[in-house]
Amino acid sequence: MLELEQALEQILSAVPAPTTENVPVGEALGRILTDPILSPLDLPVFDNSAMDGYAVRAEDIVGARADAPVRLRVTGRVAAGESFSGEVSSGSCVRLFTGSPLPRGADAVVMQEDTMVPQNAPLEILVLEPARPGENVRRQGEDIRKGTVLGQPGDGVGFAQVALLSAAGVARLQVGRRPRVGVLASGSELKELGEPLGPGQIYESNRVMLSSLVQRAGAMARVLPLVPDALEATRGALERAFSDCDAVLTSGGVSVGEMDFLKQAFADAGGDLQFWKVAIRPGRPFVFGRRKGKLLFGLPGNPVSALVTFLLLVRPALLRWQGATELALPAYPGVLAEPLSNPGNRRHFMRVRMDPGGKVYSAGAQASHMLSSLARAHGLIDAAPEVSLPAGALVSVMRWD
Ligand code: AMP
Ligand code: MG
Repeated sequence: MLELEQALEQILSAVPAPTTENVPVGEALGRILTDPILSPLDLPVFDNSAMDGYAVRAEDIVGARADAPVRLRVTGRVAAGESFSGEVSSGSCVRLFTGSPLPRGADAVVMQEDTMVPQNAPLEILVLEPARPGENVRRQGEDIRKGTVLGQPGDGVGFAQVALLSAAGVARLQVGRRPRVGVLASGSELKELGEPLGPGQIYESNRVMLSSLVQRAGAMARVLPLVPDALEATRGALERAFSDCDAVLTSGGVSVGEMDFLKQAFADAGGDLQFWKVAIRPGRPFVFGRRKGKLLFGLPGNPVSALVTFLLLVRPALLRWQGATELALPAYPGVLAEPLSNPGNRRHFMRVRMDPGGKVYSAGAQASHMLSSLARAHGLIDAAPEVSLPAGALVSVMRWD
């Protein structure tokens, strides 16, 4: 049986190289850059004021105090968005607002709060505090220099990156194309939501979970019709799914029972099975196959097994497909608030809750059909075989939120 890391390596080596597309920056959230981006501009674009106040020459107001103010002539006014052709000469100042360009000759901005307008002299101010050269001035290029790398291939685009790129004038980005993933569920007991349940039937719940996870991983999900436990029906469903998707994600039908048809149906549909077992719990039956450059991920039907195998083996593949370099779930250190043990002989990915202070608790019963503990959990810990972790043990929580 394959170890998790071997399984992941095989999967990643089968993932096609990313193809790219060009998207507006406003639609790039969550996408992966495929090309380096160099800043076309300095940021700030020009020297400008950090405050509402007055542009001054710092040397003019050395020693200014409330009881010994310095008087300056106001020779102009520059609003944000305006430009100013004049100059601040000795003994004068220019009225500015936050974001106004700093006029020539000035080297500091005095906050409005540190000035007074003298009575009967509306074109003058009294400066009550000195300013250092550079005070309240936002210097051109102090944030980003033109030519600085703003993004590298493999970087994810977050909400701060879209702001940075927009500020630098980058309107469109080259990003990895999102693979289209068909999401199938097989099981004759499965019923669509909204229909009454007959005897022995259950509501199908994996496709909504998996298609949400596919989208979270940046890929596109196409939810496909339910597939009954029958070889021909399964083969037909796989062929249809592969005809218009880049990858097919199935759940159910991968165990060893005589009603589990996925492996055979995939082989009949011209697929090439790569492996069908991984040494983890939950999720030992996990099928990976290739078909004409496309990939099959056959997840177990138990919802917890489907989620765990998706996060450990499918999510990294979907991210790599888009060109991402960071493939693992983010892991946070925490301290067990109660003992947890894995008496089994396989690694157990246990559902845990993590409080904001980093204390980690079992999310509840760990059986792989239990959705209540799944919904309570924030993430997983990787518990080695035959291990007892005492309260106080340091653990790493792979979080999915
Ligand atoms: P299987 O992997 O087909 O043996 O299914 C394992 C268990 O998961 C069975 O109890 C199934 O009824 C259940 N199951 C399989 N697929 C789904 C699904 N799509 N939604 C909810 N439960 C499922
Ligand atoms: Mg089944």
